[in-house]
Amino acid sequence: MVGVNDIRDINQTVFLHLIREKQPISRADIAKITGLRAGTVSTIVNRLIKNGFVYEGTEGPSSGGRPPKNLYINSETFYVLAIDIGVTDSVYAVSDFNGRILQQRSLLTEGEPTKFLNSLADSIEDLVSKQFPRARFAAVGVSLPGLIDRETGSIVSSPNLEWNGVAVREILQGRLNLPVFVENDANAAAFSELWYGPLDEASIQTLLFVLVVEGLGTGLIINRELRVGPRFGLGGFGHMSIDPNGELCSCGRRGCWETFASERATVERFHRVTAKQGLPFVGIQELIARAKNGDPMALESIKITAEYLGEGISNLVHGLYPEAVVIGGNITAAWSIIEPILHSRIRSKYVVAPEQILIRPASVQRPSLFGAIPIALQNYFKSATSPHTLAATKR
Ligand SMILES: [Zn+2]
Repeated sequence: MVGVNDIRDINQTVFLHLIREKQPISRADIAKITGLRAGTVSTIVNRLIKNGFVYEGTEGPSSGGRPPKNLYINSETFYVLAIDIGVTDSVYAVSDFNGRILQQRSLLTEGEPTKFLNSLADSIEDLVSKQFPRARFAAVGVSLPGLIDRETGSIVSSPNLEWNGVAVREILQGRLNLPVFVENDANAAAFSELWYGPLDEASIQTLLFVLVVEGLGTGLIINRELRVGPRFGLGGFGHMSIDPNGELCSCGRRGCWETFASERATVERFHRVTAKQGLPFVGIQELIARAKNGDPMALESIKITAEYLGEGISNLVHGLYPEAVVIGGNITAAWSIIEPILHSRIRSKYVVAPEQILIRPASVQRPSLFGAIPIALQNYFKSATSPHTLAATKR
């Protein structure tokens, strides 16, 4: 029966998304949009109401019969903390149950991991005590690159962060006194599309997310569920080797997809040429800005990345046939440059109607941060613990 529970847990998150976007919305509307049976819809809605996440009210003149009962999000009953730990910087945010980010702060990811996680907790406590002193928090969602042990919430190995065996959940839970749920960043990014993606894609069942950051990760949605795999999760396709004689990857192997298509690869490609001319190092954002302004070297660097991205996606599309491929990361700021290359790469090799596959940039700016919100919510629904007052833990 685990499967059934899982589906309900996931549907609670999807329902919150629908209600958030469409409120006021009736149960019948939800059934129509999701294609779920009325009985299933009611079971899930009743649970949301019982837990205080959603309330039911009537609105508008009745046309004679029973007035329609509409559903609304109890957006300020509880809050959620989302944390996105990146290789160079980390961001955390306070979100309401509408998934709306109310406050956001960032800090550099630096120093020894335990020390860093403690200063992150200091910063969160400072923000919460000043700006949300009376708020009740349901849970914390954390997203970071690497392999995660889902039983302990520890990071097993993150070649890009250079963190190994770090007890992320234990450390943050100890400090924040809230349930903490840790997820791989590309998985969180994929999940962000279920929650923040366009509603006209609500019928899409299978989605491949390609997160292009310092490294490169993928997340997979199948049947509108995030495919997380076993205890240590799926490695994703970022470390799929596409050239066994290629460059050494952070994972220890050679020629992984990320050594060709990640931000780091793009910047290094550019820098290999410019360094010879004695020009200073530039970051990915500056590089993209230059490419858009027509700097030929920057443009070339981005275009080559797009070729490799397209090449990898072409292989995955061939095997997985997702309905949508979504790309996240700074590279999407150069969408007008990369889009035609992606399409031509995917089209050139694909044997089945590739035009049916939607390829688009992510729906939100930092998808791994936004994805941490529904990750926290979904796991919170599963564990059904009662909300906490964060500020109380410090005193
Ligand atoms: Zn690798």
